[in-house]
Amino acid sequence: MPKRLNPLHVYRYLPQTNCGKCGEKSCMAFASRLIEREVPLELCSPLFEEKKYASKLKELQKILRPAVKEVVFGVPPNQIKIGGKDVVYRHEWTWRFQTPLMIDVHDEMSDEELNDRVKFVNDFAYIRIGKELKLDGIAVRCVSGIAEKFAKTVAKVMKLTQKPFILCSYDPEILEEALIVSKDRKPLIYAANKKNWKDVASLSVKYECPLVVSAPGNLEMLKSLSTSIKEHYNQDEIVLDPGTYTNSSIIDTISVFTALRYAAIDAGDLALGYPLLGVPAVVWLDKEKPPEEKAFTEAVLACSLMARYADLLILHSTDVWSILPSIVWRDCVYTDPRVPPSVKPGLYELGKPNENSPLLVTGNFALTYYLVKDDVEKAKTDAWLLVIDTEGTSVQSAVAGKKFTSDKIVELIEEYNLAEKVKHKSVILPGYAARLSGELEDMLKDWRVFVGPRDSAGIKKFLEKIWIPEIFGENKGEE
Ligand code: SF4
Repeated sequence: MPKRLNPLHVYRYLPQTNCGKCGEKSCMAFASRLIEREVPLELCSPLFEEKKYASKLKELQKILRPAVKEVVFGVPPNQIKIGGKDVVYRHEWTWRFQTPLMIDVHDEMSDEELNDRVKFVNDFAYIRIGKELKLDGIAVRCVSGIAEKFAKTVAKVMKLTQKPFILCSYDPEILEEALIVSKDRKPLIYAANKKNWKDVASLSVKYECPLVVSAPGNLEMLKSLSTSIKEHYNQDEIVLDPGTYTNSSIIDTISVFTALRYAAIDAGDLALGYPLLGVPAVVWLDKEKPPEEKAFTEAVLACSLMARYADLLILHSTDVWSILPSIVWRDCVYTDPRVPPSVKPGLYELGKPNENSPLLVTGNFALTYYLVKDDVEKAKTDAWLLVIDTEGTSVQSAVAGKKFTSDKIVELIEEYNLAEKVKHKSVILPGYAARLSGELEDMLKDWRVFVGPRDSAGIKKFLEKIWIPEIFGENKGEE
């Protein structure tokens, strides 16, 4: 069951002075927002500044710790937060902190290849329902085995990007050389294993950077390492790497990730209550397969692991078709299922509309809005788009649920003074709202109400048919 806290329980450990420094009117209000994970504890400055609250602070940090600890690397404004999860199923409570996608580079790459790969990470952007989906950072691998060479590559990467990065080597000396040049950017250290864990844990404490604990295929070892590092080094900034296997072992990898998440959340196992790292890039170790097959397998593995609780992924392919499934799937998985994606209601200008431009109406479900916008743009026309607050539901559902009503349309027409803005006094309803046309005509009196197509793809043809310049005037945007 998800761990849900009671605000009264949290309130007990707050200073209870209602000073308002956190931005809330009372400590109880702050407690309520804390348990919903809407605000960080750090906003209560007295708790951190006044010694008398030290024991309360310690207790609060303990009780507010999510089942999967939140781990941060990189520096603001390019920080990455991972973990911070309290539930197995996202319908129980929003999954916070989407899985960052890191692309690997290594220290044997030419400057040109290094530049190209980092530039690709910097520039990659895919627009989906009005959101810009981006890659998150770089995993710098040491392949040469030479500390100085690795540190130089890390320094180059730091110059090429402000995005966070992971330092990948099992050799503590190599890691330290790179940490000396990069500690101010707070990289994630990969990795402590059964041989090097004391040295790598010491480095993570010395340079104040989080670390990955790696024990591929050995969950007992993974747990033992995280426990020892926490006990002996008081290091709680840990990420777990249980190993990523491909081919016929993909199912085992997915099972292990699932078991770890259940152990952390359902069984409350603190030693396993850390974010999980998956490395789909391992598919590229296979020398036999052609590159297209590896890029395909990598995409499948990345999506599968994201669905089964991976909090951080390292990828190799820079083929856009291989990255797209992961980046779009991530957006779907981390969209709050209780909050439909929506845009702000109001009047939008598509192109440069004037007093002769058509006035269309739609709902504020984001997908509907962007489809209508795209189809108006494809029709190569300028238009006014009045977006009604349908609470993020589609026009069809909103009409049935009385969220898309004539009252709301009239209200917005008046609010935006559209009788002055459009000379023609005509409004085009979406086809699914046809049943409102009579009522709307009655309410708007001297306006004409048209019923447009059900599918916005038909807007172009519809406008070509009805929007006659002799009647409505020239719809030419202002220059
Ligand atoms: S800053 Fe702390 S003490 Fe002040 S009101 Fe907020 S929670 Fe209470």
